[in-house]
Amino acid sequence: MRPVTHSIAVLGGGISGLTCALRLAAQGKCVTLIEGSDQLGGLGTFFEHDGRTFEKYYHCMLPSDGPLLRVLEELGIRDDVYWKPTTFGYSHQGRLFPLNGALDLLKFSPLPFLDRLRVGITGLYGRLVSDKGLDNVTTVKWLTKLSGARAFAKFWQPMLEAKFGDRYHDVPALWFWTRFNREKGESKGECKGYISGGYKHITDTFVRVLRSRGATIRLQTAVQSIDLDEDERISITTDSGIEKFDQLVATLPTPQLEKLIGPAMRAQMPALDTTTDYQGVINCLLFLKKPLTPHYWVATPESQHPFDGVVETSTLTATADRGDRHVVYLTKYLHRGDERFAQDDESIRTAWIPALKKLFPQLQDDDIETSFIFRAPFVEPIYKLGQMQLRPPEELVRGKVYLANTAQVYPVVTSWNGSVIQAERTLEVMDLTSARPAPSGARTTELKIPKPQPAAQPLRRVAAKV
Ligand SMILES: Cc1cc2nc3c(=O)[nH]c(=O)nc-3n(C[C@H](O)[C@H](O)[C@H](O)COP(=O)(O)OP(=O)(O)OC[C@H]3O[C@@H](n4cnc5c(N)ncnc54)[C@H](O)[C@@H]3O)c2cc1C
Repeated sequence: MRPVTHSIAVLGGGISGLTCALRLAAQGKCVTLIEGSDQLGGLGTFFEHDGRTFEKYYHCMLPSDGPLLRVLEELGIRDDVYWKPTTFGYSHQGRLFPLNGALDLLKFSPLPFLDRLRVGITGLYGRLVSDKGLDNVTTVKWLTKLSGARAFAKFWQPMLEAKFGDRYHDVPALWFWTRFNREKGESKGECKGYISGGYKHITDTFVRVLRSRGATIRLQTAVQSIDLDEDERISITTDSGIEKFDQLVATLPTPQLEKLIGPAMRAQMPALDTTTDYQGVINCLLFLKKPLTPHYWVATPESQHPFDGVVETSTLTATADRGDRHVVYLTKYLHRGDERFAQDDESIRTAWIPALKKLFPQLQDDDIETSFIFRAPFVEPIYKLGQMQLRPPEELVRGKVYLANTAQVYPVVTSWNGSVIQAERTLEVMDLTSARPAPSGARTTELKIPKPQPAAQPLRRVAAKV
């Protein structure tokens, strides 16, 4: 018997796949969303603890996340986002320095006074300069020229290493410029947003709306291969067998997708930049009985710390979303092949928690309610000089196979907002003339894809975490 043909398959149930499915279903297309794990949300996924849900990896929104906020509007939950001023701290030789403006920078004694001025001028210059040509200049060169070699080595380099390890040398200044702007784009100071009920509220709402629009959602359905059959149909193999589709949107990170592509499909595709590599992340999540710092983020870039940052999300989140506990994520970016990914949870706890106590001597064992370790190998693409030319195309096989993944998000910062922007870019080039309609009775709406945003807003503030 010939397998049933569905119209459009969306691979991956992270925010990119969810957005693609939402917008395609809104146009009345017959969509099947296929997710390998048992949850939607991808890197923004969550777990349950004591009657509430918490993200495995710290997540927040920024006021500049317009495209994401428009998706939340479309889902009817935009008003559930709440905003709060937040601050940034920098740990140096056991002292915690607030770094939230010009005055803080002037008092930042780890740098000689002249270097503080140069770092400040870097910020001011970044506000005035356009991003033109920055894709072909390394962040190292750009920042060294502006801040000087000493300030680069002491201030910027440790923060770049914290993100890209020893692969920061090639990262274009365009990435840095965009990231700098995203974090500090607010004239009234840093402000972050979270949603009542946590990110689970977003994915639950996606499920409800997608189903009402006739979409099919498959969880725990890891795709094993994708190819074109003799009729040029898309053939997707999972544990449950082979299914045929007319079109496909893949949202998996490039190295994961590469492994799935069969020979017939590959023959019709442009060569993907197989050198796109990824940094992964280990997060140690601590529930504490009292707060640790007043800051949302404390950079801990000195090499003696096993983590690069202390992210206290409870400085942002409401008590209703976390109970009385205080929520702290210790975070470490590592190359996805790093042997520390293979460390068991206990070994990580044994190294990281005493290091945290050393950094914050007031923290006692009794203050720790419990802790959890989470690992994600595919988080941040490692960008190279001229990355704009290396971005994989949105259309992989003409009229049939499309891509909307984190390797294309550049120069926008990898984030839920960045993935929504990329999903919109991909949907814009999709040829939907042959796509089958959704089953009758499904509610549909007119598709309005907002124009992709410019790469970044102007820089307003001086210091920023990378
Ligand atoms: C520590 C950390 C902190 C972050 N902080 C923030 C933040 O504060 N704000 C923010 O906006 N963003 C943040 N991000 C980034 C954000 O989570 C990601 O950029 C975004 O989630 C990427 O979404 P995506 O859909 O493009 O990819 P992913 O979320 O990676 O989704 C890909 C999906 O594909 C599925 N998949 C993989 N292989 C298969 C297969 N073979 N078959 C079927 N399914 C498969 C995966 O299970 C996954 O669900 C953070 C990320 C991390 C790790």
